[in-house]
Amino acid sequence: MKWMAEGLEKLTSDSLERTLLSCEPAPGRPGFTVRGERTLLDLSSNDYLGLSGHPAIVEAMRDALAVHGTGASASRLVTGSRSIGGQLEEAIADWQQSGAALVFGNGYMANVGVISALVGRGDAVFSDRLNHASIVDGISLSLAEHARYRHNDMEHLRYLLSKHRAARRKLIVTDAVFSMDGEHALLDEVIQLKREFGAMLMVDEAHSGGVYGLKGEGLCHSLGLHQEVDVHMGTFSKAFGVYGAYVSGSSMLIRWLLNKARTFVYSTALPPVLLAGIAEALRLVQQEGVRRERLAEASRLFRAALRDAGFQAGDGVSPIIPILVGDSAAALRFSSALEEEGILGVAIRPPAVPAGTARIRFSLSASHTKEGLLGAVHGITRAGRMVGALGL
Ligand SMILES: *Cc1c(COP(=O)(O)O)cnc(C)c1O
Repeated sequence: MKWMAEGLEKLTSDSLERTLLSCEPAPGRPGFTVRGERTLLDLSSNDYLGLSGHPAIVEAMRDALAVHGTGASASRLVTGSRSIGGQLEEAIADWQQSGAALVFGNGYMANVGVISALVGRGDAVFSDRLNHASIVDGISLSLAEHARYRHNDMEHLRYLLSKHRAARRKLIVTDAVFSMDGEHALLDEVIQLKREFGAMLMVDEAHSGGVYGLKGEGLCHSLGLHQEVDVHMGTFSKAFGVYGAYVSGSSMLIRWLLNKARTFVYSTALPPVLLAGIAEALRLVQQEGVRRERLAEASRLFRAALRDAGFQAGDGVSPIIPILVGDSAAALRFSSALEEEGILGVAIRPPAVPAGTARIRFSLSASHTKEGLLGAVHGITRAGRMVGALGL
């Protein structure tokens, strides 16, 4: 095991070692988190709509616990399929205006299972370089050719599609909103290329489900492009505040996945109590558009205030707002200085982001108030000055 000790030593000296730091919920204070003695403004979670811990979801889960007990006891294909799961899938398909939907254990399992069920040896997957790790792992497992295109570079995607023109099946896969940058995929251009080259298209809405669209359907719907997407995937762990994931598409696709997606077939069904929580969260996501409006307003305000303070906050509209630092050690120092200011701003380092692009990734929530965010920008400015991340 000497190799491991050496590997860990290298991680530490490169400022790349991760450790677990506790984050407890702050009772009665949504948008805050407790670490040790301190209550911090949480600018790092993915609770975009502030639904995590919502009383209606808690109540739905408590009721379901009394009826269904704790676990599902088996895979859906054995004895684990409860009617509450089928009803949830119908509600998801309705919401997505798709033929059918299938619930997966989580987003990681959905991506790994779906990609490896759609392609195999002799096929090619065209994947944005900044796609989520679960997409990368799904492609590796599938044994298909992995054609990585430069981030949002449509010329490069076109080049790779023509280079692999002879592949048996072609699948383009992209995050709708890139998790570490907050940038949007260029979906209309991707769709043109998909048509031109006869490829399938899969879109991961982990960071856009709940956040975009009139009913929180995601970025594809908000652009009116959902009919062009063959495989639509999203999670219930971020804006929905619960856990789990879904895939939606044609009923033929869902029939295929139910038989071929190994992370679905060979894994125990989600506990029914979670299905009940997801169903309630889905109702809230659709009904409470005011949460999306509050989030959009918070994102606009926070970006503008950061820019005024001298930061490069980009000009996107998503609630993910990175401050690029570059060096991993500096990003860690910045994060500690933020904690001193009462702000949770986690340092994101390689391999989660490309080498030399360590950053603080802020993510906002509908529970954040205008005053809280403007106050935070003062703290971020002081912390940024102290660590030299802000040339002021
Ligand atoms: C978080 C995330 C996932 C994984 O979802 P989990 O439910 O947390 O496993 C997949 N894709 C993207 C883009 C994500 O951000």
